[in-house]
Amino acid sequence: MTSSEKLSIEKSVPGRRGIWFAKASRPAADWLPHHVLRRVPPRLPEMAESEVVRHYTRLSQLNYCLDTHFYPLGSCTMKHNPRANEEVAALEGFAAAHPCAPETAVQGTLEVLFRLERLLCELTGLAAFTLQPAAGAHGEFTGILVAAAFHRARGDRKRKEILVADSSHGTNPASAALGGFAVRTVASRADGRLDLDALRMALGPQTAMVMLTVPNTLGLFERQIREIAEATHAVGALLYMDGANFNALMGLAKPADFGVDILHLNLHKSFSTPHGGGGPGSGPVGVQARLAKFLPVPRVVEKNGRFKLQTRCPGSIGRMRSFAGNVGVILKAYAYLRGHDALRLRSVAENAILNANYVRARLKDLYPAAVDEPCLHECVLRTEPEKMNGLKTLDVAKRLLDHGFHAPTIYFPLIVHEALMIEPTETETRETLEAFVSALRAIHAEALSDPEKVKTAPHDLPVRRLDELAAARNPNVAWG
Ligand SMILES: *Cc1c(COP(=O)(O)O)cnc(C)c1O
Repeated sequence: MTSSEKLSIEKSVPGRRGIWFAKASRPAADWLPHHVLRRVPPRLPEMAESEVVRHYTRLSQLNYCLDTHFYPLGSCTMKHNPRANEEVAALEGFAAAHPCAPETAVQGTLEVLFRLERLLCELTGLAAFTLQPAAGAHGEFTGILVAAAFHRARGDRKRKEILVADSSHGTNPASAALGGFAVRTVASRADGRLDLDALRMALGPQTAMVMLTVPNTLGLFERQIREIAEATHAVGALLYMDGANFNALMGLAKPADFGVDILHLNLHKSFSTPHGGGGPGSGPVGVQARLAKFLPVPRVVEKNGRFKLQTRCPGSIGRMRSFAGNVGVILKAYAYLRGHDALRLRSVAENAILNANYVRARLKDLYPAAVDEPCLHECVLRTEPEKMNGLKTLDVAKRLLDHGFHAPTIYFPLIVHEALMIEPTETETRETLEAFVSALRAIHAEALSDPEKVKTAPHDLPVRRLDELAAARNPNVAWG
């Protein structure tokens, strides 16, 4: 271990101080109750302030992050978020507003909520949105409660089942189960799309909803989505679209046009807030007009240029979260959308698609695509252990870290063997993509010439290959 990797306690030198305080004029023992007085001094590292600053700054840089590294984590849309939007969200009038402030004092915030709902309606073609859900999965759960309320309001109580594609995001079946539904999985075909015949067989009077991730987790568009919607509606069920990865479609397609009834978006992916790190997030839910009355309260309404939060809405499923949602994230999304006209939004989607296909095309001779055809915003490739001295996707991902790249998502989607799910996003340059491609090609060559080197990677990071199971079961969160 080098000196820079020592724990702070190991760097401690007795008597070394960052800051000196004058001696108290009245010792604590004179005036604090006896039982709260410390008997043993705290075991703290004794260090100079400069050393402390360097120690923690260095620790903060040991991790990969978007500001320092390319981060092609599939399904997560780890893209650059414009700093200008952070400034908008930090404006005092927004950031310092108290969540319980009277409506007259927060007209500006309410107007932004109102306008963002309208912008999302325009983007998706849907009639109404709620901004309340705090994450994508929370949006799914909200959509599922809306669907349940819709069927209940019609007196249709037989619909106990939700159909989920096997290529859907893992949160879809989890949310359906949490909503009290039985979950049934529908298989995909070899081309990665939902098997329409299998769907037709599974649909019936027991079906409440069909949930589709679009683009699906293979990065593919469901070409038969219109037929899927027709078959779903023919049995009286609703069609849900998981639109978490809307940077693949924005400006190109409106989900309402292909028959989607309920959809959620992830503002903390596509719309200027980073995903990952545990929040805050925002998973707005949009619906067709006939479902609007079931959306959560409060609803932002406008009357004569004034905005208010309407809490009495007959039919509403009620509150899904405290207050109006994660307003900071909402503000950034609003600023982002206002900063992009329709043409620029379309080019966001086009560049996301172009970048994913660039990577796919440059790598597919060594890492074949799960489905060999153009993808949308991400591509799913495979490692072939039989052609790489038995090395697997995990080994390739670990060796990538030595090359200065965060690994892509691996072993997901579950339907692809040895999957490498790469999402470059629209904010990366061609040079970065090329460097990433070169690294993966170099690792393939190394797997043939020096497989042990790949198998024992990473070599250049502060920690070597971790026992990830042990790290998850017995986390040491006090390191450093
Ligand atoms: C990220 C993602 C989700 C879940 O979003 P969270 O905010 O993490 O709950 C759901 N579906 C898809 C397709 C996603 O990519």
